[in-house]
Amino acid sequence: MTTHHSPLPGALRLLLWLWVLAAPTVAMAQAGSMAAQRVADKVWFVQGESALGSPANQNFISNAAFVVTGDSVVVIDALGSPALAHKLLQEIRRITPKPVSHVLVTHYHADHIYGLQVFKEAGAVIVAHRLGLEYLNADTARLRLEVSRKELAPWVDEKTRLVSADQWLDQPTDMTIGGVQFQIRPAGPSHTPEDLVFYLPGERVLFAGDLVFRGRVPFVGQADSKHWIAALDQLLRFDTHVIVPGHGPHSTQAKDDLTLTRDYLAYLRRAMGEAARNLEPFDEAYRKADWSRFEKLPLFNAANRMNAYNTYLLMEQERE
Ligand SMILES: [Zn+2]
Repeated sequence: MTTHHSPLPGALRLLLWLWVLAAPTVAMAQAGSMAAQRVADKVWFVQGESALGSPANQNFISNAAFVVTGDSVVVIDALGSPALAHKLLQEIRRITPKPVSHVLVTHYHADHIYGLQVFKEAGAVIVAHRLGLEYLNADTARLRLEVSRKELAPWVDEKTRLVSADQWLDQPTDMTIGGVQFQIRPAGPSHTPEDLVFYLPGERVLFAGDLVFRGRVPFVGQADSKHWIAALDQLLRFDTHVIVPGHGPHSTQAKDDLTLTRDYLAYLRRAMGEAARNLEPFDEAYRKADWSRFEKLPLFNAANRMNAYNTYLLMEQERE
């Protein structure tokens, strides 16, 4: 009578087994696992999570890319913590022993630059738009870092510092590094005043920074959406095969993605602009707006209301 196992413990054992099997996968994902994906002959990128920065993801919420040239490696953006930058260096080392000669910075937002010090120590030249200096010299950068040291500890800590560029650009610039041409183009003020995009005509790859968001709602923040829309129209003129955005997966549908980001911004401006013109309160305008085209995108709930509110304020200013 007691020789049989009852079905319940059996089912529990199975569940336990499943849990044991699944646990390492979960742990890896939580530790911000990083695997470089090749998107063109000379180009790889690593993709951050579609999430807000947290100790669990080590602030791995943005992308970085690298280009293996004839002589060296050129990195685009430095990720959101020094630990992540070290991991990116390891990924590069799996693919090539060539030294990292340059880091090209799309813009000075925390999740793209807190890893810079690692590449600086490795001897790389850091290239960014001159208006990044204003951000570095402003209180916002320092205050943001203080908050990040608390919210992202231990990945961002007292040793994490803001790193200035070695080369500040303010004009369209073509650089040839190890035989690969990089077309560096100012695209701000859009997402930030200091936006740069990088186009590789030989690979037909566009590194668009946060001007193009794929698979999620962008953070509009204090962005100048009118110029942002104009910049997206400018990017649509590159003969792009692959876009590597600042967040989300890479894309071989350059036109669709550029258009989605542009349409989202245009809709924010239209809906909130009308409300601001009619002196309609924000809450009412927000409730009335038709978000159906965008509400299924990741981070819609986290970002859309704030985006709409910032746009409402912007449209009030533009009226004055
Ligand atoms: Zn970003």
